[in-house]
Amino acid sequence: MYKKLFIPGPTHVRDKILQAQTAPMIGHRSKEYSDLQAEVTPKLQQMLYTQQRVYLYASSSTGVMEASVRQASTKKILNTVCGAFSKRWGQITAANGIPCDKIEVPMGQAITPEMVDEALSKGGYDAVTIVMNETSTGLMNPVKEIAALVREKYPDVLILVDAVSCMAGAKIEFDAWGLDVCLAGVQKCFALPAGLAVCAVSDRARERALQVPNHGYYFAYEQMDKKYEKHQTPATPAISLLQALNVQMSDILAEGLENRWERHEEMAAYIQNWARKYFALYSDENYLSPTVTNVENTRGISVADLNKELGQRGAMISNGYGDLKEKCFRIAHMGDLTLDDLKWLTGLIEDILGL
Ligand SMILES: *Cc1c(COP(=O)(O)O)cnc(C)c1O
Repeated sequence: MYKKLFIPGPTHVRDKILQAQTAPMIGHRSKEYSDLQAEVTPKLQQMLYTQQRVYLYASSSTGVMEASVRQASTKKILNTVCGAFSKRWGQITAANGIPCDKIEVPMGQAITPEMVDEALSKGGYDAVTIVMNETSTGLMNPVKEIAALVREKYPDVLILVDAVSCMAGAKIEFDAWGLDVCLAGVQKCFALPAGLAVCAVSDRARERALQVPNHGYYFAYEQMDKKYEKHQTPATPAISLLQALNVQMSDILAEGLENRWERHEEMAAYIQNWARKYFALYSDENYLSPTVTNVENTRGISVADLNKELGQRGAMISNGYGDLKEKCFRIAHMGDLTLDDLKWLTGLIEDILGL
């Protein structure tokens, strides 16, 4: 049975977008392809409030997380860890043999500018990784404030941001905040099928990459730049997904960026209030995510059984991530979902649990 997805990726994809993927194939060295990439890139730049480059990779987000650390540092990277995905970025950095240290806070808590300041003040770092929206805990880190601190006090430190579960769902002013890398896969707030990643890269980060020996090939900004002006990619792009992305970006801009951010805030507020009424919120109230809520299972229900029942009614939520399995459950409110969709979902849950 078809299930509407309320999980934090992949998210529900509208029929129109599924259809947009079925356009006939075009050659990736053709004018038609260049026209497509030339059309979609400025829309992405507009959404990220940036004049700098935005690359498109045929990859899931994790590939670009790896690429970004491989091209960022000739010294040492600071990894900030507040949950499963930020932890993954630290593991990726270490797995590539890049010198790195981490600062870590307990799950459900945020990384603050003060913590980053204290760590960077020890010296020797030239990049920092931050997951903007920690999907495992439903928490949004204060990236704007952290970036302001780094730009002011540590001009040589590149700011790498994983915005996988909030890009296209929350405002990210790439240039004004002074970010250097901001990446996301399209299967979350973009509400597209999986397989394509979007990555904004600052001129500063592109220059740094050229200083880093063995910074890779497939994802290298240096390689991407060889085709960028031609509106192409060095290897074969995910053409069908790009066709769908082009349609989706037009719809996102037609909705209005501010309206889109507001819709996510509204959906988040609704789910947060619902969670407070029947359960509890897991993460620090000051940093709740606008795109996914981690609900603490204070009633000791079986989340697996609840999801089975929801499945029979055409909906799906997420269990808690990793160690939080059955201790929490997550409801995503991202992409093209609406407040009405969420009211329908909470109605189903109340009905199943007899709340
Ligand atoms: C989903 C997610 C990832 C992993 O994305 P993939 O596209 O599966 O590689 C990384 N970081 C965050 C914050 C995520 O939510």
